[in-house]
Amino acid sequence: MRVSRLYAPTLREVPAEAEVISHQLMLRAGFMRKAAGGIYSYLPLALRVLKKIETIVREEMDRAGAQELLMPIVQPAEMWQESGRWDVYGAEMFRLNDRHSRNFCLGPTHEEMVTTLIRSDVRSYRQLPLNVYQIQNKFRDERRPRFGLMRGREFIMKDAYSFDRDEAGLDSAYKAMYEAYTRIFTRCGLNFRPVEADSGAIGGSGSHEFMVIAESGEAEIVFCSSCSYAANVEKAELKPLETETEEPGTVKQVETPNCKTIAAVCQFLGLPVEKSVKAVAYKSEKGLILCFVRGDHEVNEVKVINTCGVNNLEMASEEDLLNAETVPGFMGPVGLKHDKAVVVADNTVMGMRNFCCGANKVDVHYLNVNPKRDFEPTFTADIRLIQESDPCPHCGAKVTKAKGIEVGQVFKLFTKYSEALKANYLDENGKEKPLVMGCYGVGVSRTMAAAIEQNNDEDGIIWPAAIAPYQVLVVPVNVKDEESNNFAEGLYEQLLQSGIETVIDDRKERPGVKFKDADLIGYPLRIVVGPKTLSEQMLEVKLRKSGEIRMLSLKEDYLADIRSLLNGM
Ligand code: ATP
Ligand code: MG
Repeated sequence: MRVSRLYAPTLREVPAEAEVISHQLMLRAGFMRKAAGGIYSYLPLALRVLKKIETIVREEMDRAGAQELLMPIVQPAEMWQESGRWDVYGAEMFRLNDRHSRNFCLGPTHEEMVTTLIRSDVRSYRQLPLNVYQIQNKFRDERRPRFGLMRGREFIMKDAYSFDRDEAGLDSAYKAMYEAYTRIFTRCGLNFRPVEADSGAIGGSGSHEFMVIAESGEAEIVFCSSCSYAANVEKAELKPLETETEEPGTVKQVETPNCKTIAAVCQFLGLPVEKSVKAVAYKSEKGLILCFVRGDHEVNEVKVINTCGVNNLEMASEEDLLNAETVPGFMGPVGLKHDKAVVVADNTVMGMRNFCCGANKVDVHYLNVNPKRDFEPTFTADIRLIQESDPCPHCGAKVTKAKGIEVGQVFKLFTKYSEALKANYLDENGKEKPLVMGCYGVGVSRTMAAAIEQNNDEDGIIWPAAIAPYQVLVVPVNVKDEESNNFAEGLYEQLLQSGIETVIDDRKERPGVKFKDADLIGYPLRIVVGPKTLSEQMLEVKLRKSGEIRMLSLKEDYLADIRSLLNGM
C-alpha cells in the first residue's frame, strides 16, 4: 500500500465527545467515522485489524473443534416469544416490522436462533457433541452507547454455542473454549485476566469473563493478593463477618431530627458506623425490595437480582416507600410488612448485635436492634458489594480492585434454552433429553479498542504486531532523491514479496510529517531510507514500542532480521 493512495484521513482536532483514548486515536488516525451514536464505519486500517483479530479467533475456534456457520441477523419474534425473552429483553432490542406487520428484531445475540436451528437437525446422541460459531454484527440499543467501539449499538461479535448430552460434556466444551480464549487474547498481545463472572440464576462457577486490564474499563474486578482468585465485583462472594457476641439490649426509639444519611445519624448519636444498618430501596417486577446492609457497606444489585429472582431493578420512589409504610431516610427492617415489600438482609447484618437503624417514621431511629428477635427478613443472603481490602472468599488474604474491559465471556447455559425451546435429543436408550448448552462470546470490535487502550503513548497507537494493520512502514526521506527513492521502492517490493505487510510513504511531504503520521497509526516497524542508507549500507529501523533504533546491515540477511524483530513484538 502507498500512503498517497491510503484512505486513512487523519484529523488534527478530535471531537470532544471522544472521551477515551482508543476512540480519540481511531478518529485521529483515520480508522473509523461515526454514522450515528454507537454506529461506525470501519475504514481500511481498522478493517485490517478486525480481520486479523477474526483470523486469530477463527484459528483458535477451529482448533478447539468448533465449526463456523452464519445465521441471520434479522430474527422473527416467535422464537424470542417461545423462550420468553421477547418481553424481558426490553429497550435494548432493536425491533422492526416487515410489510405484513410481522415482528422481527436485529439479533443482539443468537441463543434462540441457534437452538431453533439445532433442534430441527440434531435428533440423536450420535450427533453430539456439537459446537458452532459465527462472526457477525450484533445490534443492541444500549442505554449509553459510548467510548467509540467499546460500547457500540452495532458491533462485531464472535458467538459460539456448544451442545452436549450431559453436564460432563458441557464441562469439557467449556474448558476447551476457556483455553481457546486464553490463546486468542494472548496471541492478540493483550494483558488480560479471566475472572469469575455472574451467571445469574444458574449460579456456581458457571461463567468467566476475559478482562483486558485498563483504567478506562467499565468493569470492576477484584483479585486476591495471595491466591489465584479473581472475579468481577458483581460476582465476588463475601463470607459473613464474625457474629458479634454482645448481650442484646432493649430496643428503644430515639429522635434523630433531619438525620437522613447513615453518616449523619451516627455522628448525631455518637455511634461508630459499624453499629448501624442502612437501607437501599428498589422497585422490581415483583414489587418493592428493601435491602439492608451494615452502614459502611454497599449493596451489590446483581446479588439482589439473583437472590430475589427478578429481572429488573430500579430505585424506588418516595411514593413506593410511603405505600409500604416506611419513609425515605428512616427505613429499617423492624415492623416492615412482608406483603408490602420483600425484605433482604445481608448475611453480615444477621450477625450484628444492638445496631441502630431507621424506625420507618420521620426523624426517628431505633437503638439496640437485634436480628431474629426484632425482625425476620424475607431473604438472608450475601448481597454486599466487595470492597478493596475485604478478605478473599477463598483464602482470606486481602483483595485488590482493578478496572477491566470485558472482551469475552464464556457461559454455561445448561438446559435454559433447550427446555424453553424444546430442543431435545434421544439418548442411547431412546429416551428424550434436553440438549445441554454453553455459549461463548468475543467482542471483536471491542477487542480492537481494548488493544489501543492498553497500548498507546502521547504520539499515538502502539499496535501489538499480531494485530497491526500493517507491519512495516518504509519512509523515503526525500522522494526527489532518485537513487535512495529507487532503493526505498525496491525494498518495499522485496518486503511485500517476502510476505511482510508493508506500506511506503511515497508522499512529497517533509520527513517530520511522515514520522508523525507513522507514530499516530502505530506501525510496529518504521524503516527510514535516505542517502546514508546506501553510502553506509545500513538500514535504520525504529521500533514503535520502545522507540529503539536498530541498524541492520544490508550485506546480511536483513529480511530475516526484520522478521525476527516482528516476532518479538
Ligand atoms: P457488557 O456487560 O459490557 O454490556 P455483555 O456482558 O452484555 O457486555 P455479552 O452478551 O457477554 O456482553 O457479549 C459478548 C461480548 O460482546 C462481550 O464480552 C463484549 O466483548 C462484546 N460486547 C457486548 N456488548 C457490546 C457493545 N455494546 N459494544 C461492543 N462490544 C460489545
Ligand atoms: Mg458479558
